[in-house]
Amino acid sequence: MAHAEAAVWLQVHDRLLAAFGHQDWWPGDSPFEVMVGAVLTQNTAWSNVEKAIANLKAARALSCPAILAMPPEELARHIRPAGCYNVKTHRLLTLCRFLRDAGVARDPIRLAQAFPVRELRARLLAVHGVGEETADSILLYALELPSFVVDAYTRRIFGRLGLLTGHERYAGIQACFHRHLPADVALYNEYHALVVALGKGVCRPRPRCAACALADMCPRADGARTADFAPPARARGRSPA
Ligand code: SF4
Repeated sequence: MAHAEAAVWLQVHDRLLAAFGHQDWWPGDSPFEVMVGAVLTQNTAWSNVEKAIANLKAARALSCPAILAMPPEELARHIRPAGCYNVKTHRLLTLCRFLRDAGVARDPIRLAQAFPVRELRARLLAVHGVGEETADSILLYALELPSFVVDAYTRRIFGRLGLLTGHERYAGIQACFHRHLPADVALYNEYHALVVALGKGVCRPRPRCAACALADMCPRADGARTADFAPPARARGRSPA
């Protein structure tokens, strides 16, 4: 029974991969850039994050030491396109201080070896402004550690599929993925990105079930799947938010 349940969770991944292709997440040239993106993407579109990161790059300030050396008001000016810039300035500075205090400011990828993954997750959650989704995004996409990222799309899609009740908390949803899937970083990376692609383009608040690659396995499907499925253009590409 447990084996059959696990097969369904993998089948969802395989169907979405066939439909949308590899998503190449997370956009970013370095682990630190991914961390910055994970903080800046809170409550805003990814296109706004890209502008903020471009500003930091243009100022040669996309590093932990550079951000810590910068006056906060200058940092706020650079990240203004990402919105809530005073709050996010404080959060970025707090994250950078955490990296500095962990002794990895110049090479944040070393954080992956500094602590066991569960302890590292707990330490990240203790950083001001880092919630569960942000912590897991940092663990998975910046540090390549097996911690599945859950978001509102995950809750909606897997609730509609009948694989979640819809009442689980974040930890309960993540535990389902961890229980049913091998602890494989590449799989977790692709799976979350594919969930976002489906949630953005197809399984929207008003779902487009006729265009959904999961329609024949979904109890909430409201119509037959079209024979010539093609993902909508906006569901493609490297776009975490
Ligand atoms: S069939 Fe419809 S409700 Fe089910 S996952 Fe697809 S889009 Fe969402």
